[in-house]
Amino acid sequence: MPYTIVIDAGHGGSDPGAVYEGRREKDDNLSLAIAVGELLSRQGVSVIYTRTTDVYQTPFEKAQMANQADADFFISFHRNSSEEPNQYTGVETLVYDNSGIKQTMAENINGALSELGFRNLGVKARPGLVVLRRTKMPALLIETGFLNNEQDNTLYDEKQEEIARAIADAVLGTLDLETVTEADRRAAGTGKSFRYTGNLLPCPDRPFPHPPECRPYALRPSRPGLSRFSSRRGRLFQSPGRRLPPARKCHSDGTPPAPRRLFHPDYHLSV
Ligand SMILES: [Zn+2]
Repeated sequence: MPYTIVIDAGHGGSDPGAVYEGRREKDDNLSLAIAVGELLSRQGVSVIYTRTTDVYQTPFEKAQMANQADADFFISFHRNSSEEPNQYTGVETLVYDNSGIKQTMAENINGALSELGFRNLGVKARPGLVVLRRTKMPALLIETGFLNNEQDNTLYDEKQEEIARAIADAVLGTLDLETVTEADRRAAGTGKSFRYTGNLLPCPDRPFPHPPECRPYALRPSRPGLSRFSSRRGRLFQSPGRRLPPARKCHSDGTPPAPRRLFHPDYHLSV
């Protein structure tokens, strides 16, 4: 069953969000939200937008839309702002608390965006935010750079396509162990090959070039659950000590996972 993800362009209508020299946060949010939503749709995710036009919604209404749709994830797009122009720079992702798959997804998003040149300000718990508090599913709020920072705006404008792709890949990469197809699962059960359908992720929070502790993946004995890759420059890398949740849907009965092969166009890996 495909995932349902609610994509929320923050603010809208009479609420412009942050404003800086005529630039309005609500517009930036909408264009990136739609770009990410389109990429996710293309990968089979069922995407629901809170808005695709310039309309006002209360944060409570946005959360309600996600709850009524019984979505699996809620991702809100925002841009940050500070008192003084060019005071701060970077991306941060906000979550209700620092736990669970939303935390992993948030780290992956920040990590992917930092590879595009954004400073990584980390994942912050903001339990008071309505869209994080009133949503019943894992919810994230991405602050893609500061709207009143020239450097962040330049990145935002010049790399919007890459930013959208980085976010979509990070979202899909977080889910990848759970998005193998039924046929793949059957093949995994027989110990035969199965196709890797997820996306390869960069090591989160690590700059390129990768430091020595990010060993090329293929050189390591692989274990189930270790699943952080980067295909950058033709090599796979894995951050040390990072784990994704186990592939629950494949092995929900508690039996040890059968050995399986992951196939990527360029790499053959055992996990
Ligand atoms: Zn905002």
